[in-house]
Amino acid sequence: MEAVRSQRKSSSVSNNGVVSKLPLYRSAPPLEVRLEDFELYAIDRLRVLKGISDGLSRGKKPDEMEKLVLDLWKTNMKNQHSSEVVNKDIISHFVLRLVYCRTEELRKWFLSMETTLFRYRFRDETTEVQRALMAEFDLPYKAVSNAEYESVKDKLNQVIRAIGQSTTSTDAIFYKVPFEEVPELVAGRKVFIQKGNAYIAMNQVVSLVITQFRSHLSKALVLTNRKWTSMIREQEKDRLAPIIEALSTSYLGPDYSQPREHAEISLKDIDQIAKSSFPLCMRHLFQKLREDHHLKHGGRMQLGLFLKGVGLKLDDALAFWRAEFSRKGGAERFDKEYAYGIRHNYGKEGKRTDYTPYCCQKIISSAPGVGDHHGCPYRHFSEENLRAALTRMGVGSRPLEDVMDKVRNRHYQLACTLTFEAVHGSSCDAGVNHPNQYCNDSQRILESKKSSSNP
Ligand code: SF4
Repeated sequence: MEAVRSQRKSSSVSNNGVVSKLPLYRSAPPLEVRLEDFELYAIDRLRVLKGISDGLSRGKKPDEMEKLVLDLWKTNMKNQHSSEVVNKDIISHFVLRLVYCRTEELRKWFLSMETTLFRYRFRDETTEVQRALMAEFDLPYKAVSNAEYESVKDKLNQVIRAIGQSTTSTDAIFYKVPFEEVPELVAGRKVFIQKGNAYIAMNQVVSLVITQFRSHLSKALVLTNRKWTSMIREQEKDRLAPIIEALSTSYLGPDYSQPREHAEISLKDIDQIAKSSFPLCMRHLFQKLREDHHLKHGGRMQLGLFLKGVGLKLDDALAFWRAEFSRKGGAERFDKEYAYGIRHNYGKEGKRTDYTPYCCQKIISSAPGVGDHHGCPYRHFSEENLRAALTRMGVGSRPLEDVMDKVRNRHYQLACTLTFEAVHGSSCDAGVNHPNQYCNDSQRILESKKSSSNP
């Protein structure tokens, strides 16, 4: 691959000897990367970016975001060898550039998440490191001289007090920059402006650096896209291209092909579990099956594999589907037309693959047609139907509005997460990524509630 060791004199030491672990990702020098690391590093960084995306869509405040980003980074980007941490950082960034350069929508998402990541990592550095990083960005700004500082000191202190910050010795370092370079500080009225220049305190330089970082990365993504379409895609069509193409839609959690420990379910419990613990997509399919005694192929696959992941054994699954389908078409027709499909899902027919239940991403991106009941209700239901279904699940009117707000902004999994939290009265920080995860987490919560009420 075309990756990657920092072009800086060392991965972490700047001109004046200050140590930083934060690369600027200016260019991707040639470096041999094992194919498995290429993918694994990218997946780890993707977990960080997806966590950030989740935090932002949940409307977390800046201090909560700061904690979230640093925790995500620590959890996912660690490496046994500390010397490898910087390499993993740079390699994963450039792999994901390839993944996310390919459409306008992907570029926008990646740009926004990487910028947020960089912002909080920069803020976590010491003042010395921040100054060294600024020098590396080649920003043409110099710290304001003592004489100039004295002439505007009172005004600067007024602004600092007005935005509720206390002054420290490092705040005595100010940079003078054209005000259009720090739009977020100007919009928030957080800087003193004089003759078209904004006076930026050291603890505000992150805004300046972020503008540079975003603009550089945005241009780089467009260039990478050109290289990808004109050259790399063809050259790498058998090796890297399939990995790159799969990464942007990859599901990063467990596959739930096995039920959780001791979690086999029997037919007599299934209605109760459907009512208490199925996510809306499966609850809807289950109810339609009970009403119509039939589901089309997409519905049979989505619900059938989910039930397998929940712990329904093959014999019970056959009995369950037969009981419903035979009410409409007779048992013989079921055995002839549908039993094969059920056994196939359990790896007992055809290629004998043990198929895995569908994750949310796959269900959300499906395209149910007329008469189909599969898909994700948050994406595929009309607003009216969704409101009615959520009310039937017991979601109160306030949380229901929050759910609908997420749906309008196309955050379907987050809408499902808020539903989970409203129904169970318990938080789900990891977010809902898989219907079986929803069901397992729900069962765990209900079991622990039950055991604490019957000690
Ligand atoms: Fe099902 Fe996932 Fe949609 Fe929730 S977000 S309803 S679990 S597909």
